[in-house]
Amino acid sequence: MTEGQDTIFGKIIRREIPAQIVYESETVLAFRDISPQAPVHILVIPKKPICSVASLKPEHAGLIGEIVLAAAEIARREGLAEGGYRLVTNIGHDGGQTVPHLHFHLLGGRHMGWPPG
Ligand code: AMP
Repeated sequence: MTEGQDTIFGKIIRREIPAQIVYESETVLAFRDISPQAPVHILVIPKKPICSVASLKPEHAGLIGEIVLAAAEIARREGLAEGGYRLVTNIGHDGGQTVPHLHFHLLGGRHMGWPPG
């Protein structure tokens, strides 16, 4: 997967295609997954086009903190904090990543099995 590649998420960031945006800051965007795998399924992404965790650099450490904190805040707003939820990021082919723009899946509203299939 190529770093900085334009993706469907880039189009969402630029408002070229619609999305149900639930959170936005200067650096982070979150929107509902188009194919939800749980009652709540939200993608939390950096606005910067980073491909995946595998391409992170030390200077991205603060940004990752912002993304995780945003996810926790969204989970609270969605009423998931008490019951729990899953925050997961897929990396590359074997990880099941299909969109080459770093994203964390926030999944909740049902019990999550482990290990994932
Ligand atoms: P992954 O397989 O981890 O790369 O996850 C990509 C996710 O993006 C999948 O859960 C898709 O359903 C979701 N997705 C793809 N296109 C869109 C879109 N236009 N709006 C919202 N979610 C999308």
